[in-house]
Amino acid sequence: MPSPQPTQVQRVRSTPALGQDSRAPSRTRRPGHAPRPVVADVLGGLAGLGFGLTMALVLINETSGSLASPGGWYTVAGRLTGFLGSYLMLIMVFLIARIPWLERAVGQDQLVRWHRRIGGWPIVLIALHIVFVTLGYSKVDGVSWVKQMNTFIFHYPDILASLVGFALLVMVGVTSYRTVRRRQAYETWWVVHLYTYLALALAFAHQVVTGYAFLHHPLAKSFWIALWALGAISIAAFRFALPLLRNLRYQLRVVSVDEEVPGVFSIVLSGNRLSSLAVSGGQFFQWRFLTKGLWWQAHPYSLSALPNPPFVRITIKDLGDHSGSVAHLRPGTRVFAEGPYGTFTHHQRVTNRVVLIGAGVGITPLRAILEDLPSNVHTTVVTRGSAENDLIHREEIAALVAQRGGVLHELVGSRQRVKLDSASIRRLVPQISSSDVYICGPAAFTDHMANTVARLGVARERLHSEVFAF
Ligand SMILES: Cc1cc2nc3c(=O)[nH]c(=O)nc-3n(C[C@H](O)[C@H](O)[C@H](O)COP(=O)(O)OP(=O)(O)OC[C@H]3O[C@@H](n4cnc5c(N)ncnc54)[C@H](O)[C@@H]3O)c2cc1C
Repeated sequence: MPSPQPTQVQRVRSTPALGQDSRAPSRTRRPGHAPRPVVADVLGGLAGLGFGLTMALVLINETSGSLASPGGWYTVAGRLTGFLGSYLMLIMVFLIARIPWLERAVGQDQLVRWHRRIGGWPIVLIALHIVFVTLGYSKVDGVSWVKQMNTFIFHYPDILASLVGFALLVMVGVTSYRTVRRRQAYETWWVVHLYTYLALALAFAHQVVTGYAFLHHPLAKSFWIALWALGAISIAAFRFALPLLRNLRYQLRVVSVDEEVPGVFSIVLSGNRLSSLAVSGGQFFQWRFLTKGLWWQAHPYSLSALPNPPFVRITIKDLGDHSGSVAHLRPGTRVFAEGPYGTFTHHQRVTNRVVLIGAGVGITPLRAILEDLPSNVHTTVVTRGSAENDLIHREEIAALVAQRGGVLHELVGSRQRVKLDSASIRRLVPQISSSDVYICGPAAFTDHMANTVARLGVARERLHSEVFAF
């Protein structure tokens, strides 16, 4: 029997390398970039323009004669659905390409939500493309649709490959459907999702070689190839090259793993040149610990303190395979981090009065936001736990609140005994309706608090929340 792996777990209340007085402007820390909403507007406008151009590409090739010919309407509908389906796939690629300016303007959670919302449409449109084009061509040739499909598969270039690509897309779509996805491990879903790249590659030749809209329009063909090349370059640059370069630069390694409260571990990492890392409190990275069982999976965890070069810290609650394994990380373990991502930062704030409301491990990004708030911001912090042990980073938060002359409310006790409802929030934070409110905690807590403070008059643009699941 192999002996159990030794652990470096110690019980400590705070990490000395971090959580120091941060109100004085740091000369060794680079502040996070402020988001530029105009980027999202411009890219949104370009996406709309591209949609219009794609429709135009198909329609300018059609004449009243082509529509009146046998199966004409089917064929045009088939071409249109094919191009629009393909265009929406491209938009989905851009949404998850982790383009830094877009990430900063919109936030990864919102981009993933849009990606998911669009998700079913390309599959439906491409399925319609297959049906309509087969029906249209079968009418021209006066054959059954089965015979026509047979001709497509065995006598047309690249159609078999694109059908295989479509089958892969359907598989990805089915496994991403909410009820199916909930039944799988996140990693299974992720590995299946990687087949999308293969599906797109298989379908590309079919679009360019047989795409009717390109037959006599080399310029249109070049435009389409350029669009897809841009998508591929964005993925290569922002999902692979940039993170690789950053990690070669920062060379992160685990320094220590400390148990904050039972089942919650802080991991302190050190790296080179971290003073050049622009990150805001509240942002997260995708973390990949380069050990035997963990190197292949990246999980999102927020910084639980601002970097204090050469150190950074994350705090993780044991909720499953990955989060449960971090307790066994050894000092010296190499770490690959991708980010920073997320818009849950003080940049979202529109007033100088901030209320931070947190529960469970959701307290940790609030701890980093608290450290990042400008000193002129009046701050109230409300932390919630069933027992004192649930108040993670309790002493650090108390010290940071005291330093800035803020107000801290720690609510400890069962939900029945210590209620966090409209009446108690109004009593604890009388000026909540004129404040920016940041909420982070378990999904049910976050939803409940968001509804509660909205009822108390907190306007939508002043209500900021982070859910620890995409
Ligand atoms: C933006 C963000 C910031 C987060 N910050 C923290 C933090 O600071 N501290 C902390 O303890 N937890 C944080 N989490 C939650 C943490 O990522 C999950 O608890 C962890 O990934 C669970 O993985 P697991 O293998 O341990 O558990 P599993 O049993 O595999 O998963 C538990 C839950 O986490 C979700 N999940 C699993 N893997 C991922 C992934 N790679 N990406 C997104 N969701 C996933 C699953 O859908 C499931 O709902 C954050 C999550 C997000 C989205």
